[in-house]
Amino acid sequence: MNRDNLGDVPSQNFREQLHELADWIADYREHIDGMPVAPTAPAGSIQKALPATPPEEGESFERIFSNFESVILPGVVHWSHPEFMGYFGSTSTAPGIEGEILSAALNVNAMTWRTCPAATELETIVIDWLRQWLRLPDEFGGVVYDTASIGIMHALAVAREEASTEIRKRGMTGRSDVPQFRIYTSDQTHSSVEKAAIALGLGEDNVRRVRSDSEFRLDVSALEKMVAADLAQKMRPLAIVASVGTTSTASVDPIREIARVCRRHKMWLHIDGAYGAGLALLPEHEWVTAGWSEADSIVVNPHKMLFVPFDFSVLYLRDLERLRRVFTLVPEYLRADTVEAEKNYMDYGVQLGRRFRALKAWMVFRTFGRIGIAARIREHLRLAQLLATWIKSDSHFELAAPVVMGVVCFRFIANDELSRRSGAKADTLAGIDSTVDINSAIAESINASGKAYLTQTKLNGRTTMRIGLGNVLTTEEHLGRVWNLIRETAEKISRTKPTTDDSALL
Ligand code: PLP
Repeated sequence: MNRDNLGDVPSQNFREQLHELADWIADYREHIDGMPVAPTAPAGSIQKALPATPPEEGESFERIFSNFESVILPGVVHWSHPEFMGYFGSTSTAPGIEGEILSAALNVNAMTWRTCPAATELETIVIDWLRQWLRLPDEFGGVVYDTASIGIMHALAVAREEASTEIRKRGMTGRSDVPQFRIYTSDQTHSSVEKAAIALGLGEDNVRRVRSDSEFRLDVSALEKMVAADLAQKMRPLAIVASVGTTSTASVDPIREIARVCRRHKMWLHIDGAYGAGLALLPEHEWVTAGWSEADSIVVNPHKMLFVPFDFSVLYLRDLERLRRVFTLVPEYLRADTVEAEKNYMDYGVQLGRRFRALKAWMVFRTFGRIGIAARIREHLRLAQLLATWIKSDSHFELAAPVVMGVVCFRFIANDELSRRSGAKADTLAGIDSTVDINSAIAESINASGKAYLTQTKLNGRTTMRIGLGNVLTTEEHLGRVWNLIRETAEKISRTKPTTDDSALL
């Protein structure tokens, strides 16, 4: 290869390509609602369309970009589509995208202060702005990770270290002085608790799932009984994980009462506010912060509610030094770059290399301000309540959980179930195929249509459709279209399916 061609793409070409990409991204955002929400091609089609062997010769931008449009794009689920209402709302925003572009251009590693002072200091600033918005006391300090699952793993690692002796140094294996630790959480909490227990050698079975009440909040009396039973067996209650905004229904656990149990038994209190903690930015929802000041740790994902693009998760600890004590370890080659007095975020977790994530959050927070962010969340809450009123006014549908945040869980009720409820004989009940569930079929049919996207979950053993609102591009008109699609799809499926919804089977 000619030595003249060994550098990067020539700057004039790069400039032209960037202009093309800038236009492409702006067009994508502007016209996204004209695209199918999710791919309709079968599994494996993308792999089939691409060569299985790596390129020997370099290829042109034009060719690669044309493949991006013809092969990759059709296989994308457009999380930013205004009618994508699955999981927790997509929170991509223009300032967030701009921040991602700049951070890709800078390509710094934020492991120590010296490796990029701006990345470290901006991370500290953004974490503290968010702390103030969340109304957390100033004794809480934080660190940015990719996800809440990583956050809880680090929080429980600190809990484990503080509850026993020298696990960091001596480990747990071969020791008779390490008790059997137990972690308690509700049957609604995200599975990241078990993942953390697996990673930390605490064991999946030592995560005790406490039943929740009729509104999907942890039942504190059941918790107390479980703790007492474990103590009687000489186990060591280590931590309680309480949720502010559970995955299925966005329910909020009674944190104050849970904190009391933690205090009594000297247990760590971790709050999973991955989705719901963002609600604290709305003064009228200050209730959501009750008991937070008693927590040892709390995780919040601004990529779920606060309009920062994926990924951006913050773990706060009361006294961040506790986290540093467990994870600080300086490899020899970094000694010259590491000064104790400087903040080195590599000391606050297992990850050494770290992206400059704070830049996009800083740009989003500054562009909208607290008032702008709160107003957008308020609109999503309004849309969720509006959908709830549409559901309540249609006799073929029912809400499956209280609507607390931007999440609506609801079910279609088939004709035979309606008759059964009103006491009439439901002849279609005979010969039901219990494997077919109409609510699941509706959600799958909608998702396969490419017109909208929703999630299904199980509540009290019954399949439930679930809509998550949180995308700045979603309007009342989009929601109305999705609601009509749900009704039409339910109508069509209930006419053609020889079965009923699964509530009749309970
Ligand atoms: N906590 C809650 C309430 C969630 O809903 C989720 C995922 O959606 C998580 C934690 C895990 O999130 P992450 O993907 O950031 O690990």
